[in-house]
Amino acid sequence: MSSAPGSLGELGDVPPEIFRRQLHEVADWIADYREKIAERPISPNAEPGAIVRALPEHAPESGEAFEEIWRDFEQLIVPGMVHWGHPQFMGYFGSTTTGPGILAEMASAALNVNAMTWRTSPAATELESVVLDWLRQWLGLPAEFRGVVYDTASISTMHALAVARERALKEVRELGLTGRDLPTLRIYTSEHAHSSVEKAAIALGIGEKNVQRVEADSAFRLDPDALRRMVNNDRERHFLPMAVVATVGATSTASVDPVAAISEVTRAEKMWLHIDAAYGGGLALLPEAHWVTEGWSSADSLVINPHKMLFVPFDFSALYLRDIRQLRDLFSLVPEYLRGDTEDSVINYMDYGVQLGRRFRAIKAWMVWRTFGREGLAARIREHMRLAQLFAGWIEDNPRLELLAPVVMGVVCFAPRSSEQETAERTCHELVAEINSSGQSYLTLTRLRGRSAVRLGLGNILTTEEHLRAVWQMIASFMESSDKNG
Ligand code: PLP
Repeated sequence: MSSAPGSLGELGDVPPEIFRRQLHEVADWIADYREKIAERPISPNAEPGAIVRALPEHAPESGEAFEEIWRDFEQLIVPGMVHWGHPQFMGYFGSTTTGPGILAEMASAALNVNAMTWRTSPAATELESVVLDWLRQWLGLPAEFRGVVYDTASISTMHALAVARERALKEVRELGLTGRDLPTLRIYTSEHAHSSVEKAAIALGIGEKNVQRVEADSAFRLDPDALRRMVNNDRERHFLPMAVVATVGATSTASVDPVAAISEVTRAEKMWLHIDAAYGGGLALLPEAHWVTEGWSSADSLVINPHKMLFVPFDFSALYLRDIRQLRDLFSLVPEYLRGDTEDSVINYMDYGVQLGRRFRAIKAWMVWRTFGREGLAARIREHMRLAQLFAGWIEDNPRLELLAPVVMGVVCFAPRSSEQETAERTCHELVAEINSSGQSYLTLTRLRGRSAVRLGLGNILTTEEHLRAVWQMIASFMESSDKNG
């Protein structure tokens, strides 16, 4: 490959024949990486700052050869990565890397459009509408629901709650929140809900403390009676209850809040109901798991992250609103230089949020979902659920360990048994530290009812029962040796 700086012109891009060769080389690298990913240590034993120190302090003055750049990528960058796509990576919500997902990202990079208005990218806009509607149908959301794609669930939830705030107070868009005599708004969510609810409250001027955490039951599901009591209590104190965020697939345990019962409260109290189905929403694709969608049709908004369960590469979050015009009314503001681009007969997705510029994310959902089809996606999710149940069975059969939460989706929370709380805590932390530093697997810690728990998340398309057994062997032998030593 002759791509020394000298072969580049003074101006213009890398010449096509050189680019083609580089592209083939990178394609081979990606194919090898995917094929042999299981041979890599999952996480680096990197010291913070080591990569910064290994890189030049200043950007290059003149161009460098592709070979040098790529060599540094392989020698300095890749060894400092956590390989989320490794089949024994079982942290967080698993990895959603797939072949078609990678191809779609490449195509999107080549097109590099800005899907802010229909006119700036008609096909990106229309494909976004199409995949959003496909997903809406899979989720069983009523036809009036319309969506928009953002990067993350945190951003989706913030936008949903912005609309809820506008409905509760009126004219916040025009007048803002300051210099007016307004009641204090309250948002309610389970004690196990994601911190993105507080982040939204911070961003929206509602305030972190006005997110009220509602008690959950023994299965980590929001208790609707406790919610009702809190709302009544707040009304007596002249707060203005604005919204409830119900979770379908909570971050720690994947528990599912009783959305139908919650919706009775929100309806009676005229509050907004937002469903955070960032992770758990994907379960709706399985006919046998339709219970998960109970109450969804009563919601005002719902977020799902197809990058968590539906194999779309990070990042892709879909927000649906029953009446998406409310979102448009709140955020549409057309700068002068785009006026000619924004005829009313089309969708301009920049109108549906804070951001103007937008990536062409729809292409990856389209390519991945077409490749596997609903049945293919469902079969893979079903297998992850089977593996989670299998793993939970091994925990239950092991006298040294106990399950800390019901296994509802592809997430298992467990902890070492011990008559002493302190010993159990220490063993829990040591277990995760040892496994993660081995490079053979990757688990995370969480806290449930004041106890540390090991959390294992399944969702990687490459993970097989064999991989899970290998991880289990590591856990079981750690527990055996810690018993002997302890
Ligand atoms: N909601 C739930 C239930 C989550 O588990 C997470 C993150 O894992 C989020 C929201 C935030 O997701 P994002 O990273 O897309 O903002």
